[in-house]
Amino acid sequence: MNAQTAWPKGVLARYLTAGGATVDLTYRLTVHNPPQPYATLATCTGCVATNEVSQYVSRWGVEEHAPEIADAESRTWAQSHAETCRAMPKPTA
Ligand SMILES: [Zn+2]
Repeated sequence: MNAQTAWPKGVLARYLTAGGATVDLTYRLTVHNPPQPYATLATCTGCVATNEVSQYVSRWGVEEHAPEIADAESRTWAQSHAETCRAMPKPTA
């Protein structure tokens, strides 16, 4: 197993799953120029599981950009998925 493989561009956190795949955390970006992150996305490379958390939260009726809340939620999801996912990563040629 090669754990030292360079992370794909944009990956901010990576979790090793029970099956040897990874759960990658990335930001979803708007099409604006410059692009703005609007959601934190966790993607499992072993199975098809994904979890997208909006970075916009409504507090007292005001919409706020709070990426740290979305990040924390995504990390929790990635951690628990990584612990239970036994799907193996697709071999790369
Ligand atoms: Zn998985």
